[in-house]
Amino acid sequence: MIIYPKTCENLIGLDCLKKYVEKYKGAEIQLLSHEQIQKKTYDAIKRLKAEVPQLEEVTIHIPYVEDKDDYNFEVLAFSKLEIEKERLKKICEISKELNLKVNLLYHTKWDYESWNSSGAIDRMKELLEIIQNSNVTILIENVYALVERKECAVLKIAKALNNNHLKVCLDICHLHCVANIFNYSLNDYLKLCLNKEDCKKYVKQIHFAGTLNNDGYIDKKTHGRVHDSRKSFEEDYNILKQFGIEDKIIVPEVSEADYFTRKDQIEEIKMLLKKENKKLYKVGMYGGKFMPFHKGHLYCVEQASKMCEKLYVILFVGGEQELEILKTRNEKWLQREDREKHIRKACERFNNVEVVVIDTTKCKNSDGTENWDMETPLVINACGKLDAVFGSEPDYGNYYKRAYPGAEYVQIDVERKNVPISATMIRNMKSIKEREKWII
Ligand SMILES: [Zn+2]
Ligand SMILES: [Zn+2]
Repeated sequence: MIIYPKTCENLIGLDCLKKYVEKYKGAEIQLLSHEQIQKKTYDAIKRLKAEVPQLEEVTIHIPYVEDKDDYNFEVLAFSKLEIEKERLKKICEISKELNLKVNLLYHTKWDYESWNSSGAIDRMKELLEIIQNSNVTILIENVYALVERKECAVLKIAKALNNNHLKVCLDICHLHCVANIFNYSLNDYLKLCLNKEDCKKYVKQIHFAGTLNNDGYIDKKTHGRVHDSRKSFEEDYNILKQFGIEDKIIVPEVSEADYFTRKDQIEEIKMLLKKENKKLYKVGMYGGKFMPFHKGHLYCVEQASKMCEKLYVILFVGGEQELEILKTRNEKWLQREDREKHIRKACERFNNVEVVVIDTTKCKNSDGTENWDMETPLVINACGKLDAVFGSEPDYGNYYKRAYPGAEYVQIDVERKNVPISATMIRNMKSIKEREKWII
């Protein structure tokens, strides 16, 4: 499965989606309006590539404005064909310049017959001519249309033209809508209008999201939302699976409650990842002096272990701060043996977590301060190549970047909202009872 997150021309919320874009090396960009569309297409692709240099493929989704069909293929083909040809030429140039595969998506509301009799097919051929020797592909997306009752028009068009640069984007919400209008279950409807062989050959990507209404009416509040339950997600996923969804690019096309955090889309991506049953990172590391190891740490380990195939929890002993604390607090529960025992016990519950103790006594500068760069080889020696480093301190980002260039720094619960505690707070607690509330 390939997941391309969906962002928009101004890249709102890209920070939150970035790790997925980096992982799958692709994304879809939604253009928001028709003004200066050529320049905007160019700028958006360029900016995204600058933000994510790993990017290899991008899909451009033309603006969808209700009651305005400006960029539906049928309008383009008959009133803007020359302009569109220019845009395609420009996109071919961008694709070459940035060494990117670019998919340009059009909606269509017509059925195959109308494409044929109106001459739209020939106009599509003219556009395809322009991109033959490029890395550009045209995608046609099925939309809300009564004409799709017995056939999937876009699939039929792609099949008729049988050109490597013309593929289909299926949108599950639109499929839901049409099925609802004709009173089919989605499953029955798809059996009627899709077949696996054609999907395999002509479908390139899928717009995947939940549909919360069942009246067929498209409303942003109910259409293209994060699936409202695991059950509805599974239903949609399993239905599409019959047509080979797992080999396709899946774009979680989710109308967000908050575009800055992209919370809904990330939720959808996580459900997809679970389905894929693959973890986001192969090897991860979460380290600290853990004086003591508390519920906040445990929360981080739990979150990190869900993202990694293998997670190393490293107890660093012998550091400057540790020695400093032990000077005045020579208490058993802060000693390294006790800390190690606690951590091992707490991590027993995770079957992919291994606890490692690393002694950094010798990793010091001549003035006795800690030298983290000397610790790096010890960590690599214990864990091998790291794909992710976990922590709750934004300040450590630069060090991790330098120490483990191939790993991503994943911050968990930075504001300590989930478990509002720190080791310093625990050490300052007067009563043992209070302290023990936070220790594992
Ligand atoms: Zn669309
Ligand atoms: Zn769509």
